[in-house]
Amino acid sequence: MHLGHLLGALNNWINLQDKYDCYFMVADWHALMTEYKAYAHKMQDYIIEMVADWISVGINPAKSVIFLQSDIKEHLELAMVFSDITPLSWLERCPTYKEQIRELKGKELTTYGFLGYPVLQAADILAYKAEVVPVGEDQLPHLELTREIGRRFNHIYKTNTFSDPKALLTKTPRILGIDNRKMSKSYDNFIALSGKEEAIKSKVYSMITDPKRIKKTDPGHPGICNVFSYYKIFKPEITGEVRNWCEGAEKGCTECKKELAQILIDYLEPIRKKSEKLLKDKSYIWDILKSGAEKASEIASKTMAEVYRAIGIK
Ligand code: AMP
Repeated sequence: MHLGHLLGALNNWINLQDKYDCYFMVADWHALMTEYKAYAHKMQDYIIEMVADWISVGINPAKSVIFLQSDIKEHLELAMVFSDITPLSWLERCPTYKEQIRELKGKELTTYGFLGYPVLQAADILAYKAEVVPVGEDQLPHLELTREIGRRFNHIYKTNTFSDPKALLTKTPRILGIDNRKMSKSYDNFIALSGKEEAIKSKVYSMITDPKRIKKTDPGHPGICNVFSYYKIFKPEITGEVRNWCEGAEKGCTECKKELAQILIDYLEPIRKKSEKLLKDKSYIWDILKSGAEKASEIASKTMAEVYRAIGIK
């Protein structure tokens, strides 16, 4: 997991745990859609690392249901039903689809599964009749598609099985990675929550700053600098000072990045340590997923029974 996940979506999840019945799904089927070669035989490790990260940032397994997508067969069943009624044009015009096909040139992503990514996601959400889905900005088109698919199902089968799930954004719904594109695992431009000191430093030192600031004596423009935007998130109380370093050419970008790296190291250290500790007992994490699957299955199977009744099969 990386900083974009935490600040873009997870922070909201953490806060909602006392208010809602929260479901956290490890999307292993989805991960395979883009990484069907690279993740083969590695999924087990990725799954437990992800759950360890979630718990380390404050997802509480005693309050929330944490489960694995592939443990609940209803996700695929519902995705099958939705795939029958989803027009291809809805998927082809989806901005995230177009963006990823454009950006991930090295991967063969013109697959049937990848085009249908939002259909499976609609099933993930609607199987639980979710009211609220905390997501980053990139997911808004998928949420809109989810609502459209749910409404289309209700309309075709003359039912009110599905209501409209709402997206919930955080204050920072789109964190940029070190190359100024959206921070993403697929773009390898991320700062991992489990990053150690040297890894964080090397990522921060390669962040793009104001391209017009060539020499330290050139005044910079914080408004277009991603390093400055990180200060605004992680140390808002010193942004005035950082602005002066930059606009007044008081400190160079290298120095400014060094200080930011230290801020991130301090911020991430307790998370990394907690996660490392959790990973020493993998069976604890598998047990959480097992009991989560039991709870998730109860809800998803009820929804699926309703779906079958509405269609008139089974
Ligand atoms: P993903 O791993 O891309 O499926 O993302 C999981 C969740 O984190 C989704 O809700 C995303 O919208 C959110 N997210 C991922 N990357 C970012 C980012 N760079 N900025 C904000 N939110 C993000």
